[in-house]
Amino acid sequence: MKQQVLHIKRSEDRVANIAVLGAGGLGTAAARMLAMKKEMRLAGIADKTGYVVDLEGIDPELLENKKPGDIGMKSDDAIGEIVKNSANFDGIFLALPNLTDEFIPEVVSRFAEQGYSGVIVDALKRSGAVEKIFELDSMIRESGITYITGAGATPGLLTCAAAIAANSFIEVTGVDINFGVGVANWESYRATIREDIAHLEGFDLEKAAGMTCAEIKEELDRRKGILRLHDMEHADDVLLERAGILSREKVKVGGTVDTRNLEKPVSTTMTLTGKTFDGNVSSHRFILGDETTMASNVVGPALGWMKAGLEFHARGIYGVFGSAEIMPRFVR
Ligand code: NAD
Repeated sequence: MKQQVLHIKRSEDRVANIAVLGAGGLGTAAARMLAMKKEMRLAGIADKTGYVVDLEGIDPELLENKKPGDIGMKSDDAIGEIVKNSANFDGIFLALPNLTDEFIPEVVSRFAEQGYSGVIVDALKRSGAVEKIFELDSMIRESGITYITGAGATPGLLTCAAAIAANSFIEVTGVDINFGVGVANWESYRATIREDIAHLEGFDLEKAAGMTCAEIKEELDRRKGILRLHDMEHADDVLLERAGILSREKVKVGGTVDTRNLEKPVSTTMTLTGKTFDGNVSSHRFILGDETTMASNVVGPALGWMKAGLEFHARGIYGVFGSAEIMPRFVR
């Protein structure tokens, strides 16, 4: 017991070394945000064909204005280099595409096979992918990994806000998430926009994954750059169900994405409705500031869950947790 307390203290005093997989829109935003933090630093980053490892900290300017493939040392298996070096990292943030539900679980399995013992956080969106991560629980636990899934904005920040809001009610009857996202151009967040297209009528993940960039651009042009999304397969449902708050079919997620304008087309809201113990029906609403970007609302919470994960890990608590089960901890 005494030893455990000492261990917790040591890990709190130290700057945590974080590796980021994927150097696209969210990955580079994570690099910039980490450079502003005292408790964590970017120590590794990998994209398709290149990687950088520097345990003293990586300057985010090294990644600015670079094509993601052009970063650092060339490798046919850049993720493999991070896996090989994983003993040096306290935490891994997965900012990779989810264009098949299997891809991220496969990457996670590689860390577990390597015997990695640390924290992994993802910003997965689809229910199917999050469920696949939960299926890996025993392997993740045996490796000594503390894993938090669905730890972005939605699912993530809004899902956790719903989990807090639920406590005012004796029964939660619905959660309705409506997000607004504005990005200057679709190329800055290719995977996000492609995955959103997969939710449109007449599209699916396979079709969206197979589209060329020119076809994506044409589709966006046809819609004047705006994507209107309804009844999305979003893991907020699975996560709130697992947290014991309400059944998945009562969770609705939709949104509007403007791919040509940084301004949000609508404010992002999470509305939770329920019945109180004294017989009233009411709703709590959580509204994000319009000036906060998607990157702020995904990466900030992801690092917050990373810190919570590091604290759990130091206490010897391993396995897969959903973002509705744990509070993110503010990273200084
Ligand atoms: P992006 O396309 O800008 O970046 C992904 C990067 O991963 C690219 O640079 C790409 O080259 C790289 N990559 C692809 N395959 C790889 C491989 N095999 N090995 C190494 N690198 C590889 O994507 P993004 O917009 O930053 O989104 C990243 C993920 O975040 C998406 O899956 C998206 O769904 C998710 N996301 C979650 C939320 C949320 O709120 N939960 C919000 C937005 C985005």
